[in-house]
Amino acid sequence: MRAEALVDLSAIKHNVELLKKEAGTNLLAVVKADAYGHGLVPVAKTALAAGATYLGVALLEEAIELREAGIDAPILAWLVQPGSDFKRAIDLDIELAVASLVALAEITAASSDKKAKVHLEIDTGMSRGGFLDEWESLTPKLLQGVDVVGIFSHFARADEPEAAQNAEQLDRFSAAVGRIQSFGYTKILRHLSNSAATLKNGAASFDMVRTGIAMYGLSPDVQTLGDSKALALRPAMQLRAALYLVKSVPADTPVGYGATELTSSDTKLAVVAMGYADGIPRIAHHAGVWSSGKRAPIIGRVSMDQFVVDLGAQSKAQSGDWVVVFGNGSHGEFTADDWGIASQSINYEIVTRIGPRVPRIYSAHVY
Ligand SMILES: *Cc1c(COP(=O)(O)O)cnc(C)c1O
Repeated sequence: MRAEALVDLSAIKHNVELLKKEAGTNLLAVVKADAYGHGLVPVAKTALAAGATYLGVALLEEAIELREAGIDAPILAWLVQPGSDFKRAIDLDIELAVASLVALAEITAASSDKKAKVHLEIDTGMSRGGFLDEWESLTPKLLQGVDVVGIFSHFARADEPEAAQNAEQLDRFSAAVGRIQSFGYTKILRHLSNSAATLKNGAASFDMVRTGIAMYGLSPDVQTLGDSKALALRPAMQLRAALYLVKSVPADTPVGYGATELTSSDTKLAVVAMGYADGIPRIAHHAGVWSSGKRAPIIGRVSMDQFVVDLGAQSKAQSGDWVVVFGNGSHGEFTADDWGIASQSINYEIVTRIGPRVPRIYSAHVY
């Protein structure tokens, strides 16, 4: 094996328990995008075993995969466009977000044998998913053919707890809840908070929170909220790779495509057997790997299947050794946060883009 993502399910269990305690309410585990790259089914089972009561995904296909794995917990899919196979969703008891009258009509039409369970999605200021202009046209009559079980919205700036937009979105959400309650829907699940709001905005927790990134042990925003450690979260993924080759080179040796960098002194280089096809960002600068108890920075451009690091002349590393690309940082290794910053991106993008060529290995089974 040349590379692997080790996923510590006991860390996910810890994080779910911590977030549930913070929220003081129900927790929906967000497992979209292959559980942020950590593996859909093992993470879903772990989250449920740790106390999550709902699973949330973007796509209908993701929800179907969970059902096919035998998971019978409530599942909400929130990015299900008109034209989708709503009958299949209803048959499998997959709950659907509704954000438009067109989708509502199609879901109603598909509800002839069994009513679809729907969550009304409200655009409270992010201008992404959710009812906005059509909200006033939504009447009790239009909802008769479906089973309304929830109402929800999503924060744009929960990672900036001081931003006025958070209070505005909360107000708009409360108004939408008031309107739907006036239709007689008084017992439905109200949910608004993502990870950042769960950690920093208790007033928004309502009946359920939807946590993604923090469940994986990563901070929603290192700058504004602090890192995993500051939030008492345990990063669940360690990405490891083999050194394909170690070699000594003199100073001023050009490295990689475009010869964009030269060695600054006589040194040892190592070829790491992962590249941008595996999710290592080509743009990453100032990241690297943890090798023989030391950080070794990337030198030159990242290639499709490999990149080169500068081990330093004194390194004892050898061809075939394993290195840590990122981990929880406890030994001094780079973290997903470091890779995010080095790539002008965020930890979310680093973990979700680890490619399918990288096997996920589970170091602890807790379900
Ligand atoms: C992805 C997503 C979440 C989770 O966000 P995190 O910041 O990862 O906690 C919650 N709700 C919706 C609608 C989402 O799309």
